[in-house]
Amino acid sequence: MRPLEAVDGVPREPIWRLQQLAGNAAVSSLIGGFVQRQAGAAAVSGAPMPRPAAGPLGDGQVADAVRYYTVQPWRYTAEIVTQLRTALGLDAAGGVDAALVQAVATWQQTEGANDPALTVDGKAGPRTLPRIFRHGLNEPGAGEAFGRSVQSGAIDEWATLATPEARLRRLVELVNVSLGAHGVPAVTEGFDPNPTNDGSFDFPTWRMLVGRTPLAAEQLDAATAREIAQTIYHEARHTEQWYRMAQLRAGQGLSAAGIAAELGIPARIARQARAEPLTPGSMQGLIAQGWWDSVYGAGAEQRNATLEEIDHAAAAVRQARRRFAAHPTSANQAVLDQARARFDRAYAAYRNLPEENDAWATEPAAGAGVTSGTPPAPVEQSGPDTAPGEGGPATLGPDTRLAVEPAVGAGGEAGSEASEGPGDGALLAALVAAGAETDQVAGPPPAAGRPSHEILPEVGES
Ligand SMILES: [Zn+2]
Repeated sequence: MRPLEAVDGVPREPIWRLQQLAGNAAVSSLIGGFVQRQAGAAAVSGAPMPRPAAGPLGDGQVADAVRYYTVQPWRYTAEIVTQLRTALGLDAAGGVDAALVQAVATWQQTEGANDPALTVDGKAGPRTLPRIFRHGLNEPGAGEAFGRSVQSGAIDEWATLATPEARLRRLVELVNVSLGAHGVPAVTEGFDPNPTNDGSFDFPTWRMLVGRTPLAAEQLDAATAREIAQTIYHEARHTEQWYRMAQLRAGQGLSAAGIAAELGIPARIARQARAEPLTPGSMQGLIAQGWWDSVYGAGAEQRNATLEEIDHAAAAVRQARRRFAAHPTSANQAVLDQARARFDRAYAAYRNLPEENDAWATEPAAGAGVTSGTPPAPVEQSGPDTAPGEGGPATLGPDTRLAVEPAVGAGGEAGSEASEGPGDGALLAALVAAGAETDQVAGPPPAAGRPSHEILPEVGES
């Protein structure tokens, strides 16, 4: 629920006034008339007024959602609106009207309820669009196919692969098949040096970095095996996002050198993107624009603050936990509770970033393709194959990811599309990552292009 902007083409005040005068049903009809800007043929002929579009949104929400589209005409072009209406089963030519936003809201409520659930606001923004128009690694069946390949190619072969290095190499080989099938350049692999991360995509070096601990376990239960597949797929989705952003900028006319400098990605990746631009005005271009806005555009500052707050909040939890362990007083318990609540808020904000919301929504399909843990160890076998005594815990707890998820209600705005500004700063943005370091693994992030990362479950567990 953000404040309404005054600058728009929708008559806000008349609607507000009408609400003082008439019942909601009548107002809905009138709102429909306003936004459709169509002749009321039915009314002229004496037939009943058209019924208000059915859906979960109230009158004020309908007007707010309509405004979301109409104040961004360079994004929600007639062609985009037509595609959206068609995808939602509406008549293609109706434009932006109450029926459209109610249909979007209904879709968000029914099809978008998977984790992270979309906010039901009728706004098909950067979180909702990639779920309606599934593409690349999020195409139906793509994640499941990767998960099945992980099962047979890595989990079932876990003992034979023997070392964390070999396991990581195999997992990344497998995900590169998925990336290649969708036209995304392959990644190389490494271990993530940040102990707070399950994994990350280091776009300056185009490397996928994965936490070493689960790969060092001698055996995996099914839940942990799924977790590994999902982490890899999550980071691969980020790889795809970054490549789509590069293709977007290519389609907008940026040179390969400009793309490399702006996004902070390797020159060879930028050159490839330059040769395969996204079509300006296309749905996939609009979706990539949503990610670009978040990472490099108007959302960059807030994104960096969000990612930094995650680190600070996690550190506060660790410190409070140590203090409470040493002195389990009620005061220290209160501090710990506060720190956990702060972390929950930070975590919800992080998952609500458009590129994270999309990656979190994409990864479960990979887990669905993993059906079991590693095969039981041979009972009596010994010899050279028993070498990989890497130590460390055998598995992560089966519900560790759940443990870091915010409590219900903690992230009231999770999935909201409301954070988009109406500005068209996209094309004018400075080369935010110009001169980005070539290797960001251990150093601080570039100003607007911090690698995406996931948070180790232990941080927020209670
Ligand atoms: Zn992520």
